[in-house]
Amino acid sequence: MTSNEIFDLLSARSPADIESLRTQAYQVMVDHVGSEVYFRGLVEFSNECIFDCSYCGIRKSNTAVERYCLSKDEIIETALWCARQGYGSIVLQSGQQSNREFIELIVGGVQQIKQRSRSSVLPHGLGITLSVGEQSKETYRRFFDAGAHRYLLRVETTAKELFEKFHGPEKTLQRRVTCLETMKKTGFQVGTGVMIGLPGQTLNDLANDILFFKDIDADMIGMGPYLVHHETPMNGYRDEIAERKNEIFQLSLNMIAATRIALKDVNIAATTALQTIDQKGREMGLMYGANVIMPQATPRHVRNKYLLYDGKPCVDESAADCAACLEQRIAATGRAIAWNSWGDPCHFFTRTGNQD
Ligand code: SF4
Repeated sequence: MTSNEIFDLLSARSPADIESLRTQAYQVMVDHVGSEVYFRGLVEFSNECIFDCSYCGIRKSNTAVERYCLSKDEIIETALWCARQGYGSIVLQSGQQSNREFIELIVGGVQQIKQRSRSSVLPHGLGITLSVGEQSKETYRRFFDAGAHRYLLRVETTAKELFEKFHGPEKTLQRRVTCLETMKKTGFQVGTGVMIGLPGQTLNDLANDILFFKDIDADMIGMGPYLVHHETPMNGYRDEIAERKNEIFQLSLNMIAATRIALKDVNIAATTALQTIDQKGREMGLMYGANVIMPQATPRHVRNKYLLYDGKPCVDESAADCAACLEQRIAATGRAIAWNSWGDPCHFFTRTGNQD
């Protein structure tokens, strides 16, 4: 698809155009990846971060955040709880660090989770996705060898000016792209994604983001609306973003649909941020072509310390409540949940020729 064609899809505004976009995306999803929904239990195991991205509520300069890092045992127990729920896969997510202790915590945790989550319904243990930022080639290799097989690293925006504006000099788009390439060479199923509705972001930028996903041959996409956190330098955009809330929400759904139409056989997550704007946001994401949901599994005693943006839902519910709630929400969309399944993205097998 060309940038102009994607631009046209993203531009859908009238109810008829939006419905046409949605049904087209839904059909592409059914044809290429089926209609089942895959769960990844989300374990936010640490909010410590050495970086200062200006949109992020756990950036290092936010001294109002109480920092935490779960112990290896807590991470493993939380992962095993997910396995018992039938989730099949988990995402281990944190702020970014690269010190030895942090790397060893992940390597040791992943190894034990793989061993201890094996069962008759999960003979190879839980599928493990890592979302722990930019790391060295050697570290990616260690994570992969420990048993993680997916890695998420969002670029947040591929518009160079916006990327630089919101990340400062510490991070570069090129470095992030290099990391994604390294992960692919290591053998990971690779995911990326962007924020939608960033101040100054245009429809052209978003169309180019989708072309980037295609160029980098991503297997998984996670996108959501940009939401302000009050303890960040971007709090000044609060009123502007609040005024554009409905537009940004629809644009986020259009992005899911356009990405599905352009990329076809990837996994696309209906992210929690959608639910911050609309109670039914995640279900709507599923109706626009998403096929992955990440139920909140982070232990409740730390969950309200991992706030990347204001208004995050599911902060006070127990993990069991979240599981039951999501099950009902998905049933309401008429889709089935693929219990005890890794739900690997079909695109990974097409891209690599690996049929295992
Ligand atoms: S976006 Fe990630 S790397 Fe940036 S400050 Fe937040 S947790 Fe750290």
